[in-house]
Amino acid sequence: MSGKGAENEKSQAVQTCPYLDTIDRTALDFDFEPACSQSLSTSPNIYACLVCGAFFKGRGKQTPAYLHSVNENHSVFLHLTRGTFHCLPDDYEIVDPSLDDIQKAFRPIYSEKDIQDLDNRKDLGRDLFGRRYLPGFVGLNNLNKTDCINATLQALAHVKKLRDFFLRCGDGVEFELILHVASSASSKKRKRKRNGSLSSKPKDTKKKVVVIDPTSFSHLAKCFGDMIRKMWNDKRFKSTVDPHMLVQAISVASNKRYSIGKQIEAGEFIAWLLHQLHHGVGGTKKAGSSIIHQLFQGSVEITTRQRKLVDENVAEEEDDRLGSDNEDDITKKVEAAKKEMEMNTNAIEENVSNSQFLQLTLDIPEKPLFKDDNGGLVIPQEPLPTLLKKFDGVSFNDVLGAPQAQQRRYRLTQLPNYLILCLSRFKKNSFNNEKNPTIVPFPITNFDLTHYVMDSQKKREPPTEDQILEMSVKELKDLLQNYGQSALATNVVEKSELLQLCIDFIAKSLPDLLSQKYDLVANITHTIPAEVGREGLVDPLEEGSYRCHVEHKSTKQWFEIQDLHVQEIMPQLIGVSESYVLIFEKKSASDL
Ligand SMILES: [Zn+2]
Repeated sequence: MSGKGAENEKSQAVQTCPYLDTIDRTALDFDFEPACSQSLSTSPNIYACLVCGAFFKGRGKQTPAYLHSVNENHSVFLHLTRGTFHCLPDDYEIVDPSLDDIQKAFRPIYSEKDIQDLDNRKDLGRDLFGRRYLPGFVGLNNLNKTDCINATLQALAHVKKLRDFFLRCGDGVEFELILHVASSASSKKRKRKRNGSLSSKPKDTKKKVVVIDPTSFSHLAKCFGDMIRKMWNDKRFKSTVDPHMLVQAISVASNKRYSIGKQIEAGEFIAWLLHQLHHGVGGTKKAGSSIIHQLFQGSVEITTRQRKLVDENVAEEEDDRLGSDNEDDITKKVEAAKKEMEMNTNAIEENVSNSQFLQLTLDIPEKPLFKDDNGGLVIPQEPLPTLLKKFDGVSFNDVLGAPQAQQRRYRLTQLPNYLILCLSRFKKNSFNNEKNPTIVPFPITNFDLTHYVMDSQKKREPPTEDQILEMSVKELKDLLQNYGQSALATNVVEKSELLQLCIDFIAKSLPDLLSQKYDLVANITHTIPAEVGREGLVDPLEEGSYRCHVEHKSTKQWFEIQDLHVQEIMPQLIGVSESYVLIFEKKSASDL
């Protein structure tokens, strides 16, 4: 360590360097892992030679970087961890504004203003070869069946709040984030008798200011953030991005479950990735403890219905519930339950529990394919709202694979700001995967989910205009505060003004705030090339490929991105594509 310190002191920052015109920007590519091209070392002290683009460990005497500078006469280097420029073998740090473009291509940093302006911009970036590209809509290299990772990445890079979070992390400086964290880690299960009154409540949450330290992120989360910042960079040297480092990090973190050369299921992968990112940015077991939970987590009430069991298990469960260890008491209860059972052998028990989700999986009903008059196949359709009936809070569905006959009812109690829907397209039979090709049409804007949510907000009826007119100033202010709108009344002096404000708010803004309307953010599809055919022995998962549809906000233009190919697409085609994973944004989410 002392040697390194001496090395640092020795080199002084110099304004001018005579070798800057030897730099060849077209040779530079910062998408690859910083590893020494000679020793393969991945130490933190890897330098990029800005003359030939190769990476070397450095920079003291006899290091590969030093020897390269002497042998090849290549003198300008970039430290790939610190982002500083150095001249070798003379060994001094270079500070020169003419290197800013390299700095920006290497490690883009976004100010708050950059982030705010991003969705209003229409201008194109231009790479070193004169190719125009739209920042945020850049092609990603396919490293051999990594199209699922690419499509998922494109989708998540367009979840505004997630993107902004990772753009903010670029300079490695800590910042604060407000999270609503659950007060307890484990989800409580409550039981109730049929028609009983005890209902389960969603968990209590606490507002908490969390300090985000990007340098403490997991390697995977760091690579993910790097990718997001590269994809939105308007100062790139090349118009595409190579996801090599992220794919490598995913392969390591998943123990090669998701790696190069293996086709994967998008629904399963996005669930895994979000879980990794949640923990990678400091999330804990508590619900709401990371940006991932804050954006994607919703809650559902699950009612499980099954034949009542009378055995020791019941005694234990009863004990749990009552918190009592009085054995006589339990014995009496078991006896009573047995008696009840004898009297009514069809006794049904209902358990209610609350659980959190990051995505909802929807089953697509099996429908036969028909041939039309010309012999072509007619692909069946089933609209998305029909699939969502599973969560209507009314109907019970059979649970497959449970140890005894069980039925479940799902009632959505809270929808997240970003709702991920996964259409379960693949089924494994004994030989390989089977794909359900049914088209699931959906609206790409104003998708109304109000009727699926039974949250407390809905039950609280807003006051009528007459009721408002009779309110006191304090009541009016309380009313606004109840809906988190106190700020509206800050400059109001007259009561009449306040009255008008409240009436306008209840009549115009509140319905939108309370409604659960969603717009599409991203649509990941899985398509099989027509020539492969739908029947036969091929594995549809392996034969098909993924693409992603995302919208350019300021021009309202939708794009279809498949690996390196980025092209415009008409929105009408998106709602009838072979969707696999859909991400919707709550309409009021952007104002939160
Ligand atoms: Zn070189």
